[in-house]
Amino acid sequence: MKIRLDNIPDAGVDVEITDQKWAQEAAAAALEGSASRLTGKLSVQAYDDHIRVTGVLTLHGRRPCDRCGMDLLIDHDDGFDLHYVAAGSRDSGQSRELKTDELDIGFYDGGAIDLAAVVQEHFALSMPSRLACDAPGTRVADGELCGAPDPSAENEKPVDPRFAVLAGLKLND
Ligand SMILES: [Zn+2]
Repeated sequence: MKIRLDNIPDAGVDVEITDQKWAQEAAAAALEGSASRLTGKLSVQAYDDHIRVTGVLTLHGRRPCDRCGMDLLIDHDDGFDLHYVAAGSRDSGQSRELKTDELDIGFYDGGAIDLAAVVQEHFALSMPSRLACDAPGTRVADGELCGAPDPSAENEKPVDPRFAVLAGLKLND
């Protein structure tokens, strides 16, 4: 999904994402898994010296656990603000110093910005580099855990021993 810079009006271009195949494939590549749902919006703005793409994407997907290989359900919902300069411009004598907040700046080539590359980069940057079944918010697809301590169980407060005895009572006998 490429947008030619010539075709970006001053007000910018909004692209609604509702499970388009190119966007799902880009998310799946970053996830190293599959994307069953991908929704949100990309806003593309062209400036004199760079392209800015902002937006929010919600991804539902699956991928193997990095630790045990079990099938994980991934829900990811995040906004982004990515900047792209023309390929080669950084090497030109007129290139400005990149500010520290522009270290994630990317490149576009051929007078067009590839939104699939933007989607892939967003997920690659915003997801943890290691996705394992013991990470907070991670769900194993079949509901089982791979021998790791259940994070939700760890967060439960231990039962007060004074009340533990009550848990064993049946009130309606
Ligand atoms: Zn695992």
